[in-house]
Amino acid sequence: MPKRTPQPAPQLLVNTLGAFLAAPPAGTPPEVLEAFGGLGEGTAPLPPRLFFEAVEQAPVAISITDAAANILYVNRAFEGLTGYPRGEILGKNESILSNQATPDSVYQSLWRTIQRGQPWSGTLVNRTKPGGDYLAELTISPVVDGQGKINYFLGMHRDVTKVHALERALRHQKSLIETVLDAAPVLVALLDEEGGVILDNHEYKKLLGDLRGQEPAHLLRRAIEEQAGFDPLEALLTGRGFKDVEICLETAGSRGPRWLACSGERVDEIDPSVRSYFGWDKGRKRRLLLLANDITARRREVERAYLENLRARLAEQQFSQGMREALAAAIYQIQVPLNVIQAAAAMLKSGGCDPETLSETIDQINVTGQRALEALRAALPEEPREADAMVNINVLLRQILELETERLLAAGIVVDWRPAAVLPAFSAHKTQLRSMFKHLLGNAIQALMERKGPDRELHVSTRSSGDAVEVEIRDNGPGILPEERFRIFEPFYVGWRSKRGRSGMGLPLAQEIANGHGGCIEIDAEEGRGCRVRLIFPVGSADG
Ligand code: FAD
Repeated sequence: MPKRTPQPAPQLLVNTLGAFLAAPPAGTPPEVLEAFGGLGEGTAPLPPRLFFEAVEQAPVAISITDAAANILYVNRAFEGLTGYPRGEILGKNESILSNQATPDSVYQSLWRTIQRGQPWSGTLVNRTKPGGDYLAELTISPVVDGQGKINYFLGMHRDVTKVHALERALRHQKSLIETVLDAAPVLVALLDEEGGVILDNHEYKKLLGDLRGQEPAHLLRRAIEEQAGFDPLEALLTGRGFKDVEICLETAGSRGPRWLACSGERVDEIDPSVRSYFGWDKGRKRRLLLLANDITARRREVERAYLENLRARLAEQQFSQGMREALAAAIYQIQVPLNVIQAAAAMLKSGGCDPETLSETIDQINVTGQRALEALRAALPEEPREADAMVNINVLLRQILELETERLLAAGIVVDWRPAAVLPAFSAHKTQLRSMFKHLLGNAIQALMERKGPDRELHVSTRSSGDAVEVEIRDNGPGILPEERFRIFEPFYVGWRSKRGRSGMGLPLAQEIANGHGGCIEIDAEEGRGCRVRLIFPVGSADG
């Protein structure tokens, strides 16, 4: 006789009930048959076994307890999830699953709810038999009898550890993104199709404060429309973004206008509705990611540099105008003693000049000459006074090289610019130094233009040596003849082949400027081997 596997009590009960209903013994009261046949009310009567199997095979962990949570039945999924075989757990309290990490208040609320006859749903921290922790999403339903008494509870739970881990990872990711966005020195705003702000960052909120509550996104949109001529929200329709559009916002108070470089990119937001579950993406929403970089400081610097440049140019113009006027006055003033000299010479030639008249004429020449000198001194334009400023010579040289780019290219000069990576700034007269370097670089360019043949090279380098800054300007031009080498610092000496427009005052002035800054200038040149100008400035002195 084959050995029968013992059946668990509920299953035995159901099987017995099924057999009883299939062939009810004669005389069974019709009410009893009706009560059991009523399973599956409203539909065709279903056998109790079907209900049992449905519960037994359900993929969710199901347990039935008495009113004190002592376990009467568990299904297969319960065994699988908790690791407890039903033979071991039946009769034990559900608290066997607790890992003692769920706060008491949760259990109290659970019990309050189910004892009122209401279902309870929530999450508990459970422990399996082997000792693994998992998050249980649990629903408990009280089973009420005909008199409204709760005799049993039905518990259903599933493992939501992974879902929870995903949610946490998502939350962490979100807070990470928010932290990064807030730390970014750029204003960020995500706009919807109407221009409403969906998401923003710290910089955006700061601008909101500066604008005293006016929505920055609206103002930026209007400013882009007015100043750049297009509606940034059009980027949503066309899908074409925009980059570094510079706009100006006037802000109240003393801070002056704010300059912002705006960029926009269309971002499609995934449809979060359930309809998108199978890839339906008609609900996708178009968003505009608006980024704005505050470039006010840069703009102000450019404007300041422009004004400084303008001021220097006007001063130069004024100076050269003054010089022209002084020279015109010189020509006029010198004319008088010259006329007297000419008259005296004519008298001497004709022999009709006695010593007394000659002496008178010489006195007259002397007086008119002195007067001319005084008038000239008075007409000399005053050198514009300049305040000390911290000057970095690398910056000055780079600016001048940039200004000379066209001339250098036209003359086919190859520039080897080697600035010291870090050069100390020192207090100096910026305009003076600028005009000195402009003149010295101009000399090198002129020398290279007078050089026959190709390979015109200009080497410019700076160096920091202890407490001094050194500059070297070297060309491979024709160099300087030995007999001229000692004269180049003499005022009015012009050694160039083409002398037009040359006053011969460049190098004497350069020397004066270098000395005025406590520095020195050396020129090392050999005929045919180019010229090397070396300047040394002590750092920290500017008594010129
Ligand atoms: P306990 O001291 O037993 O209970 C903590 C608090 O709960 C008590 O201070 C009290 O306020 C309240 N409480 C406990 N028992 C009762 C009671 N009989 N009547 C009124 N109030 C009561 N717990 C889990 O941790 N994991 C589960 O998966 C789980 N599933 C359950 C399924 C069902 C169907 C039911 C009815 C309960 C389930 N419970 C579950 C709750 C479980 O029975 C315990 O209440 C819980 O585990 C706390 O047990 P404890 O020994 O740590 O503390």
